[in-house]
Amino acid sequence: MSPTYDVIVIGLGGMGSAAAHHLSARGARVLGLEKFGPVHNRGSSHGGSRITRQSYFEDPAYVPLLLRAYELYDRLERDTGRAVATLCGGVMLGRPESRAVSGARLSAEQWGLPHEMLDAKEIRRRFPTLAPRDDEVALYEARAGLVRPENTVAAHVQLATRQGADLHFEEPMTRWEPYRDGVRVHTAENTYTAGQLVICPGAWAPGLLTDLGVPFTIERQVMYWFLPTGGERPFTAENHPVYIWEDAEGVQVYGFPAIDGPGLGAKVAFFRKGTPCTPETIERTVHDDEVAAMAEQVGRLIPDLPGRFLKAATCMYTNSPDEHFVVTRHPAHPGSVTVAAGFSGHGFKFVPVVGEILADLALDGVTGHPIDLFDPSRLTAAPA
Ligand SMILES: Cc1cc2nc3c(=O)[nH]c(=O)nc-3n(C[C@H](O)[C@H](O)[C@H](O)COP(=O)(O)OP(=O)(O)OC[C@H]3O[C@@H](n4cnc5c(N)ncnc54)[C@H](O)[C@@H]3O)c2cc1C
Repeated sequence: MSPTYDVIVIGLGGMGSAAAHHLSARGARVLGLEKFGPVHNRGSSHGGSRITRQSYFEDPAYVPLLLRAYELYDRLERDTGRAVATLCGGVMLGRPESRAVSGARLSAEQWGLPHEMLDAKEIRRRFPTLAPRDDEVALYEARAGLVRPENTVAAHVQLATRQGADLHFEEPMTRWEPYRDGVRVHTAENTYTAGQLVICPGAWAPGLLTDLGVPFTIERQVMYWFLPTGGERPFTAENHPVYIWEDAEGVQVYGFPAIDGPGLGAKVAFFRKGTPCTPETIERTVHDDEVAAMAEQVGRLIPDLPGRFLKAATCMYTNSPDEHFVVTRHPAHPGSVTVAAGFSGHGFKFVPVVGEILADLALDGVTGHPIDLFDPSRLTAAPA
């Protein structure tokens, strides 16, 4: 007899570990299968920090989900004692008409979110490390900041395990098929059956979700750590906000305060501008010309930051064609399969609320959260 569960979760990275927590908290018998070990650095949920913010330039439709994600991050911190969020404040900086500034402002105004608009002079006064051009402005949000991906995944794994979920690491799913009213899932070691399957594949989406019909693309991204000229003091989280800066050409750079301790520098990255890859072929080596390009770009806004290059690491985005998420009951298997994919480089701040939505969809078939924007039919509809 194959072991039987209410729900099997595939992938225990950001989204899958949160789903395993929310499902097991509601009393479901959960099996989680993960290709690698707990909290690994081979997917999309590593590198120490992720920006979180509510004045969301991508679309105001994300704001109610962000309000809920903030509550759930608070609760996660209380329930596990792990540091998962640091709200050091954040600036979205660029010309007034840039997407980063105008989009953030639209969300803030539409939802009545607390924010301040700063001109270049005021930015320089409040944040002396930043040297914007005279025609640049910023939206400052005090409740922006960072979340910690490794601690968040570890916290969800800890809670799910405590609630009785069976989490199997180093045991990838090799294939699955519909079985009776539910699904049957195979690994090299075993076969399992369940009423519901929740697939959270990260960058493995193209291989695992072929029948969804969404053309996901995987992008190599690099994170860079620099030791600032003159030391880290002006860059600590008490003194420095997270930032997203869009230049006149639309190139976005984002970064963090120095949170790792003395000598360990501060992290910065290009928001997009990655190169196509697959999880199997991604180039993990970061080359000198890439470091030089990053130092040159961020040095235009924060001259002291690229003092000395310390280290770099790669990570993958899983992009949907319009860079909005795909969170849905699987259209081809609506009674038994739920998917969460295509987080397009901006998903981590939503991890706990996506976990809650996946538990709603798997156990109740519907969610009260507004997820119309994430319906894959927007991407797969046949041309008229
Ligand atoms: C450099 C970088 C910077 C980012 N910055 C931000 C930011 O500032 N703010 C923000 O909100 N978001 C950010 N993101 C995006 C965010 O980190 C991702 O959207 C999020 O981590 C995606 O989570 P996931 O669960 O989909 O993927 P993952 O965490 O990678 O999880 C997928 C899991 O599935 C497992 N898996 C795959 N195939 C199988 C199988 N066959 N069987 C079992 N397991 C399998 C994988 O091993 C993996 O653990 C950033 C991402 C990167 C790479």
